[in-house]
Amino acid sequence: PYSGPSTEEILRKRQQYLSPAICHFYKKPLNLVDGKMQYLFDEKGRRYLDAFGGIATVCCGHCHPEVVDAIVDQTKRLQHSTVLYLNHAIADFAEALASKLPGDLKVVFFTNSGTEANELAMLLARLHTGYHDIISLRNSYHGNAAGTMGATAQSNYKFNVMQTGVHHALNPDQYRGIFGSDGPKYAKDVEDLITYGTCGYVAGFIAEAIQGVGGILELAPGYLPAVYSTIRKAGGLCIADEVQSGFARIGSHFWGFEGHGVVPDIVTMAKGIGNGIPIGAVVTTPEIANVLTRRNYFNTFGGNPMCTAGGLAVLRVIEKEKLQQNAFTVGSYLKERLTSLKGKHEIIGDVRGRGLMLGVELVQDRELKTPAKVETAHLMDEMKELGVLIGKGGFFGNVFRITPPLCFKKEDADYLVDVMDFVMSKM
Ligand code: PMP
Repeated sequence: PYSGPSTEEILRKRQQYLSPAICHFYKKPLNLVDGKMQYLFDEKGRRYLDAFGGIATVCCGHCHPEVVDAIVDQTKRLQHSTVLYLNHAIADFAEALASKLPGDLKVVFFTNSGTEANELAMLLARLHTGYHDIISLRNSYHGNAAGTMGATAQSNYKFNVMQTGVHHALNPDQYRGIFGSDGPKYAKDVEDLITYGTCGYVAGFIAEAIQGVGGILELAPGYLPAVYSTIRKAGGLCIADEVQSGFARIGSHFWGFEGHGVVPDIVTMAKGIGNGIPIGAVVTTPEIANVLTRRNYFNTFGGNPMCTAGGLAVLRVIEKEKLQQNAFTVGSYLKERLTSLKGKHEIIGDVRGRGLMLGVELVQDRELKTPAKVETAHLMDEMKELGVLIGKGGFFGNVFRITPPLCFKKEDADYLVDVMDFVMSKM
């Protein structure tokens, strides 16, 4: 049983000593004490089905014993910066990770977060090409430091500080976009941005295959191949931000970009790579990686033994427990069930995504697509009361984000949909 401070006490300390900017998901904030696979437990021992996975972070399951053992065993032996010394953990994980990527994507840089990974990716692109301009997509999220905040394109995540050289292209949004699912039509906007907004050459292009924070939006088919070709003609590199869509989550493939039939020049990752511990990575080609030898590039904790031992265990568990296959099977089943809910509840405007990265967009009016923001927050709260945690997002805060641990079962999917159905029926 839990014997720590009360929820009120934690809340008071949080309000007094932590950032005034943090927000809670629920009216009555949840105090989480334990996690086990797809379940979370509060201070009273009440169990919740976790369909958000700490923002698509937990892939193997909360506190997966094999991952925990790997982390603890390594921590007992050695845990410090291994940038300047040899240690097997970083080398072993780099080798294993490189084996999951196609082509020449074989050189790994480890970081501590997704933001850092994307900052490094943009730096590599700028150094390698000698150009400065970067194109990202409207509605994207890439991080919160100077460069990545520039690449992020949602006003609610952007502060008014210097963010130079990023142009935001029309989002190939299949639900709200002006060209529907016609990817190549949206891609023309990238050509125009290059023609009218740059010297004609760019450092690169960065995009998520499925926008996570933006509301689980899968880029329209045919978009990425067309844009990759345009970018390469303009001298730029193509960066795939796999922070949410990577690590088997989309089921059909290990990486989100594979679902679009493209091979990027740089791939960035975080979240799922560590099943909850702070680690990120950038993988690129030997030629591109080489630009960093011009100066010292240094990251104290990037690739530290504890995190890389954990990362290696994550890869092992994904393979051993066939989690990609599970994400495909359970994800397809869940999407089907959510889609059939659409027939019953007018508030559901769209059901989308792949594998265990699914979104349900709520609208007040299907024709006008008026975002049902207040209703989304209310339903989410009600679902929590019935023991189901899901996420929300999208620019208007009206999209349920479903990104559970990849060990999610068919019965969990049923419970999630039944609870959603019930709270929608009650509203
Ligand atoms: N890229 C994407 C697609 C993300 O979703 C996030 C985090 N939400 C980031 C980058 C930034 O990662 P971090 O919060 O670890 O810095």
